[in-house]
This record gives sequence, C-alpha cells and structure tokens, in this order.
Amino acid sequence: LESLDIGAIREEFPILQREFNDEQLVYLDNAATTQTPDPVIDAMSDYYREYNANVHRGIHHLSQEASIAYEEAHDRVAEFIGASGGREEIVFTKNTTEAENLVAYSWGLNELGPGDEIVLTEMEHHASLVTWQQIGKRTGADVNYIRIDEDGRLDMDHARELITDDTAMVSAVHVSNTLGTVNPVSELVDIAHDHDALAFIDGAQAVPNRPVDVEAIDADFYAFSGHKMAGPTGIGALYGKKELLEEMQPYLYGGDMITKVTFEESTWNELPWKFEAGTPQIAEAVGLVAAIDYLEGIGMERIEAHEEEMARYAYEQLAAEDDVEIYGPEPGPERGGLVGFNLEDVHAHDLASIMNDHAVAIRAGDHCTQPLHDKLGVAASARASFYVYNTKAEVDKLVDAIDDARQLFA
Ligand code: PMP
Repeated sequence: LESLDIGAIREEFPILQREFNDEQLVYLDNAATTQTPDPVIDAMSDYYREYNANVHRGIHHLSQEASIAYEEAHDRVAEFIGASGGREEIVFTKNTTEAENLVAYSWGLNELGPGDEIVLTEMEHHASLVTWQQIGKRTGADVNYIRIDEDGRLDMDHARELITDDTAMVSAVHVSNTLGTVNPVSELVDIAHDHDALAFIDGAQAVPNRPVDVEAIDADFYAFSGHKMAGPTGIGALYGKKELLEEMQPYLYGGDMITKVTFEESTWNELPWKFEAGTPQIAEAVGLVAAIDYLEGIGMERIEAHEEEMARYAYEQLAAEDDVEIYGPEPGPERGGLVGFNLEDVHAHDLASIMNDHAVAIRAGDHCTQPLHDKLGVAASARASFYVYNTKAEVDKLVDAIDDARQLFA
C-alpha cells in the first residue's frame, strides 16, 4: 500500500491548524469524535446555501433536490458497508446509541420474554450494555456477558458456552473503544446463527477505520456514527436485514413514517422511512455522504494501515516505560487504532490535563465502559486514538507529556 500524504490531508482539516498556549493542537481523541475536512463542511454549507428544504413529499424544486440527496444518501451508505439491499436496509438515526435503542425497543420489547437470553461482551459500550440490560429487566430476559481474557480478547470458548438455543440476541462491539480489541465478529455471528439467535454488531469504532462488509460478517444489525468518520454529528446509521426490518414495529411514530392514517388506525410507510419519523437529518446526511466520498478517496485499507502504524508506534513507546500499563492486545490485526493506558500513581484525568497544557488532546475517564473498568480494576484510563491525519511526531509529543506528568505527580 502506498503511504499517505499526511501533510496534504492535514491541510484539509481547518481545525488541525489551531494552537493553544502557542503549541499546535495534537488531536488524539478520534475515538470520541473525529475532525471534519473541508469537503464535508462545504457539502453541508452548499446544502444550506442552495437546496435546503423539507424532504419526501415536496413538489417544488428545492424539496425535490433535497429529497434526492437525502434518499440517495441511504444508497451510498449501503454501498459503503456492503448492504446489497440498498436504501431499504439503511435507517438513519442520531448515532450508534439510537440505532441500538431502535432495535432494543422495536425488536427486543416485542420478541423477548422470561427464559430468553441476551448475550453481550464484557467490553460493550454503555450504548449497548445499558440498553439491553434495561430491555432484559422489562422483558424478563437474562443478560449474560462473554468474558475477556488477560490480553483483552474475547474468550471464544466462553462465547460457545453462553450462546445456546435460549439465546435470542447477541450484541457485540466490532472494535472496543477502550481496549482497542478487534473482535472476531463473523465467528460470533456464526455461533449466534447456529442457535437461531440474531446478532447486532456495534461498528462505531470499525466503520470509520477499516473496510467493513456487513454481508461478509452476516450481521443481522450493524450500527455506526457519522461523527467518528470525518462526518457531522447528529447522524448515524442502522443496517438491518430487510426481512427483519420489515417484520419489526416502528420505533418512533409521527409524520413521514406512515402510509394511511385515520382517527382509528395507521399503516406504515415502506423501508426505511417506516423507521424515520419526522423531519430527518438532511444536511447531516449530505455531510455523511461527503465523508464517505472523502474516506473512500483515500482508501479504507490505507486508513486502516496508517492507524495500525500509529497505534503500533504509540504502543511500543508506552510499553517501553516501566510505569505505564497498557490495556488490550498487542499491536497487529487484533488491535485497532487506539491505545488505552494508565501511568502509575497519576490519575488519568491529571494526565489528560497535563497533556492539555501542551495542546495534546486525549480522553480520560471510563469511556462509557464502567463494568469493563471495574474488571480491569481501575476507575479510569487514558486513551490516545488515531485517525488518518495523525503523525508519529504527534505520538512523540504524547510521550513527552507523559514525562512531564511523571515529574509533576509521581
Ligand atoms: N459504541 C462504541 C464502541 C463507541 O465507541 C461509541 C462512542 N464512544 C458508541 C457506541 C456510541 O456512539 P454515539 O455516542 O455516537 O452514539
């Protein structure tokens, strides 16, 4: 793979030119939200300048243009993640969290009951963990968790023990936002299907960073967020197999999601509109398409390779420090582009705040995986997460800031 022209890429991200305390911003919080390149900002600004209107039923020119852009955005997302059913299999949501809730409320509340089992992993984000935990409480279904081993990998023997004919849903992260682990999701989906269970894969940390083919994985549902892939906030997508989405009840009710309404009854619109009540995220859908075009223009394989290189470089530097503990697998195909760690005797928040003094932006906290942190035996961790525009020089600044923190606190 030809390596990337990072200098040229960086110029397309205006925010990366910012400075704090006379130091150039080093943005290493990409697993939370990535930055936005000019083509995405321009696409959204063009929408508001040229064809802003409500969608679907418009007769006038602006509404027709906005409708085409909005509706075709579903096809573009389908193509990007390998959903051959096109727009009918792509529902736009607010984010990954809403996609998870959509399936939990629409499918889970209606289909689950006492005796059914929901299987999650110990490394689930709260987006799926809290959601299915609550659905379990409301329906009487049990929730069980696939264990992780010492290196932060899923214990697949435990997965095979836990997933049985009583299992109705398996929901798992594709890539952990805390450990960086890349999970064997097709294997998990196969185990679920062997027991006639459905599988929901949380792709929030996968779709932005690597090629993803939902049909090769054979996921029943797959979700991700626009704001973690150079796109805007406020939009995410739920992929669902058409036959499943067709059978499911709507999640939200209102305008646009109906076909016929009387004072007594309503019938539902066709897919995907049945799941998109009210005025949707039109500008954001336009921005998401521009983000996909942007990422594909670079190439998802190259983005994945670059992030792996960044993560490996960061991992090796941090692993060389005796007082740094790193979570998750070693660099390689089983680790995505992030490194979670702690510096002995220094709270992750203090570390992040020292980094911030040097304009290095990292995340510190529980990263919405509190039970996983309990299991790791820490309340919080620091996390550096990489994207297409990061450089080794930025990783060096991260490591220098650790030296500073050690001197100040340890
Ligand atoms: N799942 C994972 C693995 C994540 O990393 C995140 C974001 N931190 C989410 C779900 C939730 O994404 P959002 O906040 O966009 O709904």
